[in-house]
Amino acid sequence: MDASSHKAQNDTVSSRSRLIIGLIVLSLLLVLGLAWQAQKAMTTHLKTATNVLRDYGTLVADEYVRRAMGDIGYYGYYTYITLLREQASRASGFPFEIGEPAMDSPAARAGRLVQYVFFYDAENEEMNFAGEAKSASASHLTSLAEEFLRGPLPDAGFAIKHVIINGAGHTFVVSRGDDERRAFGFEVDRQELGTWLRQSFERDSLLPQALGGGAITNEYVYLRFADSSDSVLFETTSRYDQDLRISKSIQDEYNGVFSEHNVAASIDPAIAGSLVIGGLPRSRLPLLIAVLIMTVGLLVAAIRQLQRERAVTNMRTNFVSEVSHELRTPLTQIRMFAETLLFDRVRSSDERRRALEIINREVQRLIHLVENVLQFSNGRSKKRELQTTQQSLRPIIERVVDEFRPLSGQERANIVCHFAANATADVDADAIRQILMNLLDNAVKYGPGTQTICIEVTQRPGWIRLIVADEGPGIPPDDRERIWSGYYRLDRERKSAIAGTGIGLAVVRELAALHGGRTWVESNNGSGARFIVEFPAATQPLSGDPE
Ligand code: ADP
Repeated sequence: MDASSHKAQNDTVSSRSRLIIGLIVLSLLLVLGLAWQAQKAMTTHLKTATNVLRDYGTLVADEYVRRAMGDIGYYGYYTYITLLREQASRASGFPFEIGEPAMDSPAARAGRLVQYVFFYDAENEEMNFAGEAKSASASHLTSLAEEFLRGPLPDAGFAIKHVIINGAGHTFVVSRGDDERRAFGFEVDRQELGTWLRQSFERDSLLPQALGGGAITNEYVYLRFADSSDSVLFETTSRYDQDLRISKSIQDEYNGVFSEHNVAASIDPAIAGSLVIGGLPRSRLPLLIAVLIMTVGLLVAAIRQLQRERAVTNMRTNFVSEVSHELRTPLTQIRMFAETLLFDRVRSSDERRRALEIINREVQRLIHLVENVLQFSNGRSKKRELQTTQQSLRPIIERVVDEFRPLSGQERANIVCHFAANATADVDADAIRQILMNLLDNAVKYGPGTQTICIEVTQRPGWIRLIVADEGPGIPPDDRERIWSGYYRLDRERKSAIAGTGIGLAVVRELAALHGGRTWVESNNGSGARFIVEFPAATQPLSGDPE
């Protein structure tokens, strides 16, 4: 193959490779783009869904606070302080008697929120209690009452004060008599307050029935209600998601029933699907990453495949030029000696004989080369029909060695043979010849000028081995399998001047396989190569096989 067609072939391969890699890179970019889009859409949807659910959380919190303010502010604090104020206005002295409200009356119900009632007389700075007062709060209560007396009376006629004493929250409801020197009121029982807060929660659904077809009951609502010291007055056990949780601080609305208290609310993420179409989307990131990894894997596999294809193309090109080279050398010799004979340039009959010998040798060499190439190319397309007969290997091998000696032109190589007795197999003599020729040819070609090449035939029940061992450089362990594939030559051969086509051993393996046998190579006592071809032995040994 000339340099220009070689180059043209390489160019075609590389432009095709570039096209394929370009297409795969393009699809990788496409996948990346799609993944990015999908991720973006998911993030936007998640953000929207989260916002919607947080809005519902706010709705829940507002509704709850409104409800609790009514329940506790009006039916609790307002009702009871109004009772106290009525009694104060009717009483003649101070502290006054607190009349027992009628059973089950609103006042009796409101009274459950009262821990104790206090009476403060600013004139003689005297504090009195009705009920179980806490001594720790007495001094705070005095200053609270004085402060209240000093200020203007609120429109509602009473004030609700939230105080933190020693880290714990206290709520007082305070009012005063007409003389502006006597204050009275009560401290709220926090445990009962918790019960009231729970009742407000449980009374009715906090989200409108229309939402989610009435499916969103309070069971799916998380709520936490805490005072200004963040001590929890009421909390549900429902599940919630930190991202969906809203919390807000309550202002002075409704006479400050819950001023500076905090309410946090959230919708259970499990019910999100009933409120937002598609619910809370789950991240597709792992899937997208898997798709990306797969695409990158495909890209790598394609690049590998293209590299392999390129290597095979290179090998084939080398093969063609090697074959042409191997053909040219014997042809030149044949032409030269044929001309010598033709033009009668020989001086003696010895010279004539020598010229004929050389022509014969080179023709043999050509035949061997052509046989190898034919076997190699046919082996890939159609199976060679073997003419097997059960025969002893010894005569075939001896004939090949005799033929080979003059062919090799390497008289210095000493070829020795060892045969196992009765080594017979069902073989095709021509194939065995070709196998042995190839192995001997390699042994001489790659080995030193002076060496002993050992041919051995060994036998065990079931198989026969044909072994060719030389004293050459051997085969590095990593290449011991690769050398059997077509076109493969060791790197050192590419650098050296030793000619070869790289198909000899592939032909050996193919022919062995046609016999149902196998081939491998080992090291020959640490140096040199030991090629082994194993055949199935003949089922019945031939009688009278010579040793
Ligand atoms: P070729 O000899 O034409 O290159 P083969 O298929 O016969 O092709 O051998 C493949 C490669 O194996 C050779 O190129 C050579 O590198 C290596 N090889 C084969 N036989 C021997 C040997 N006896 N000693 C060392 N190397 C060998």
